[in-house]
Amino acid sequence: MRVGAGAANTHKAFKQLWAAFMSGMAAAALPPAKLAQQPAKLVFLGCPGVGKGTYASMLSDRLGIPHIAMGDLVREELLKSTPNAQKLKDLVNQGKLLSDDIVLNLLSSRLLRASENGEDGFILDGFPRTRSQAEILDQLTEIDLVVNLKLREDVLILKCLGRRICSGCGNNFNLADIDVQAENGHPRILMPAMLPPPTCASKLTIREDDTEDVIRERLRIYAQESKPVEDYYKQQNKLLDFDVGGGIPQTWPKLLRTLKLDTEDELKTQQL
Ligand SMILES: [Zn+2]
Repeated sequence: MRVGAGAANTHKAFKQLWAAFMSGMAAAALPPAKLAQQPAKLVFLGCPGVGKGTYASMLSDRLGIPHIAMGDLVREELLKSTPNAQKLKDLVNQGKLLSDDIVLNLLSSRLLRASENGEDGFILDGFPRTRSQAEILDQLTEIDLVVNLKLREDVLILKCLGRRICSGCGNNFNLADIDVQAENGHPRILMPAMLPPPTCASKLTIREDDTEDVIRERLRIYAQESKPVEDYYKQQNKLLDFDVGGGIPQTWPKLLRTLKLDTEDELKTQQL
């Protein structure tokens, strides 16, 4: 289902999401009437490399709600030739964390555009990054559910090291073929490589900052930053921890199942 699909479908999707709440997953934190009346407003959290953008985008298609990625908003803004864009450019080039003011401005104007377009609900990706941003967001609107994607650090590092981008078409691939056997009660993690077609194979490039040291540092900073945000939503009974234990073909049905959004067709596929 896409944005603009029939209201009945949208309503059905929300009812399904509501059912997920009612099954006790998020301790039924919200009065059910609220979710039934309002479009779903979700936040996706997850460390770099976990596939947050991919799953947020797939779920936004499924629910027919926009996927609002802070990274995209910043990139769009950078393309403009306004004084604000120039300021932003300087900050980004210096590798500085963007202030709450800046990100909130970008987010507010995106949400305004959404309401003008008649878009319902959203999945936020890359925001909030801090507890204060989460608090401000709560003043703007009420978040229904926060999906926190998790993956073991050693596997994350292997995955990040395996990332390749085709300099020809810009598509992303992953050479890391991960198969970690089950141990100490942890399930097996199977994430097959996403290999490029022959036409791209000779044009693969590695992101300059995908070295092991940089990745470890990025994960350390992420863990430090995200803890207060996770705790904030945990206190509100809105945090859903979700283990990414495989590639997209394994993880996507599992995510739908967790959110009680899977259809009979998908259940059949999973049983094959
Ligand atoms: Zn290519």
